[in-house]
Amino acid sequence: MTDHPARRLLLVHAHPDDESINNGATMAKYAAEGAAVTLVTCTLGEEGEVIPPALAHLAAHRDDTLGAHRVAELAAAMKELGVTDHRFLGVPGRFRDSGMMGAPQNHREGAFWAVPVDEAAAYLVEVIRSVRPQVLVTYDPDGGYGHPDHIQTHRVAMRAADLAADPDFRPGLGAPHTITKIYWNRVPRSYAEAGFARLRAATVSFPGTGVVDDIPGVVDDEVITTEIDGTAYAAAKTAAMRAHATQIAVEGDFFALSNNLGQPVLTTEYYELVRGERAPGGRENDLFAGVTT
Ligand SMILES: [Zn+2]
Repeated sequence: MTDHPARRLLLVHAHPDDESINNGATMAKYAAEGAAVTLVTCTLGEEGEVIPPALAHLAAHRDDTLGAHRVAELAAAMKELGVTDHRFLGVPGRFRDSGMMGAPQNHREGAFWAVPVDEAAAYLVEVIRSVRPQVLVTYDPDGGYGHPDHIQTHRVAMRAADLAADPDFRPGLGAPHTITKIYWNRVPRSYAEAGFARLRAATVSFPGTGVVDDIPGVVDDEVITTEIDGTAYAAAKTAAMRAHATQIAVEGDFFALSNNLGQPVLTTEYYELVRGERAPGGRENDLFAGVTT
């Protein structure tokens, strides 16, 4: 495995844009430092709502061409973050966006939510055994905020981590590999509150302001194990979010999704270590802390 960079980070996300919102600064930082950063996105986000009126025709209920457009948005975002290895689970379009919880799209043929976990996980096992990451980042069991594709992404990522390590599971997909550390995306409540305070004091044109609980993965501060200061990569993160123009309206250090409610761009990114050894001391400030191989 001598052709692999020393540090290898895998992030698994549900839709194009989730990676930039949640982990943009982390991805830019590790890519800049020479780590291998691999993004796997599970769906094309075909069911997303479209913000710019000029592109409204792309939406699923009209031309249903949003998926292909978001492939290009994701590629542009990855350019901003300096990430060259971004893939879709299986092939682009293999699994379709399931829409919000309870939507009839949840149950349609090919919807990610309707696919057996092990079937989807096998595609990720192949990536894990090929890239051989020491660190995996994904969502908590609620997917951060209850979206079916995010919940399914959590299940698929956690299951794939186990299956990739199991020598009896599909040996044809590559040599077994055990991921050393697994993290879930988190936001400490105090940091989210400070971000909204900053937003309320700013002059922005969003018609409304979101609330702390709109932010996926918000938890009490003591749950946080790991903090990545992305200050140096704030501009790259904002640029990556801007590249997802159908989904995100960026204004200065703030943004809104299709609900038009302002939120702060969070440039320090936080994690909860759920598998592997936590480095001694206070919060970790490196996802690879303690990783030796
Ligand atoms: Zn999403």
